[in-house]
Amino acid sequence: MVTIPTIPLRDGSAFPQLGLGTYNLRGGDGIASIVSAIESGYRLLDSAVNYQNEVEVGEAARRSGVDRDELLVTTKVPGRDHGYDETLASAAGSLERLGLDRIDLYLIHWPNPSVDRYVDTWRAMLQLRDRGQVRWAGVSNFTEAMLTRLGEETGELPLVNQVELHPYFPQAGLRAFHEAHGIRTESWSPLARRTELLAEPVLAGIAAAHGVTPTQVVLRWHTQLGSTPIPKSANPARQVENADVFGFSLTDAEIAAISGLERGRLWGGDPDTHEEL
Ligand code: NAP
Repeated sequence: MVTIPTIPLRDGSAFPQLGLGTYNLRGGDGIASIVSAIESGYRLLDSAVNYQNEVEVGEAARRSGVDRDELLVTTKVPGRDHGYDETLASAAGSLERLGLDRIDLYLIHWPNPSVDRYVDTWRAMLQLRDRGQVRWAGVSNFTEAMLTRLGEETGELPLVNQVELHPYFPQAGLRAFHEAHGIRTESWSPLARRTELLAEPVLAGIAAAHGVTPTQVVLRWHTQLGSTPIPKSANPARQVENADVFGFSLTDAEIAAISGLERGRLWGGDPDTHEEL
């Protein structure tokens, strides 16, 4: 079993430095994969209404036998549920499917700016937090301008912003804004969905120097940048490999070399234009 260290959020509570992505983990096999991750030491689980696996994530949490208060379950409000009352109803549906009485990390999945309802959605998230149905309110795929607007119109910034982040898209500007405002960055698709990234020669060289795998180098890069990556793996051995990244440290030069792989977003998910329901 791997121990994944935590880091304090702006509110002082402990947040894992690495979690499990669950996109495409569904059905009985999905439950088994999520249980194996929890048994390996994962505590932060990343689900969403749109992954259609909240039932599986809740079931895996119960089957794992790990104390409920140790597990940190994330889910997300989909675009079709934006709006104050709609978000309250959406959360009730998620809680029912998860079979839990609290969502640990609740995120607005996409801002969908043309709909212009993410501020009302955010107000509902804060209400859910004040009621105790949500522990941490956060967002996903928000830009600096959108975060600033939330702060200006509601007086409260999200604790977390989950964004596309990997060596091809290191997001230095957004990460600096997060750091200045006490917003924890989470990296989605931290392995760039295993595109050619893991075969990059620069990663092979750094991996050999530390006696680890290129995947571990990438995930350690995320944690040293100050982000929480949420790699998805269905495979128990790869889950352990992905979590076991806290026994070595990259040098500043190695971090810079990895960030030098930058080429931009990989899937066109620009939050100013890309919208999901
Ligand atoms: P990812 O975690 O970057 O990559 C997952 C892929 O890499 C899978 O094909 C997996 O295959 C493979 N893989 C995992 N560990 C590996 C290893 N050690 N060696 C070789 N291959 C490995 O991509 P992702 O699933 O897109 O992103 C992670 C999570 O982020 C998602 O599951 C989801 O929870 C979240 N997400 C959020 C958003 C958002 O808009 N907020 C968008 C996309 C994703 P195996 O399963 O076979 O190991």
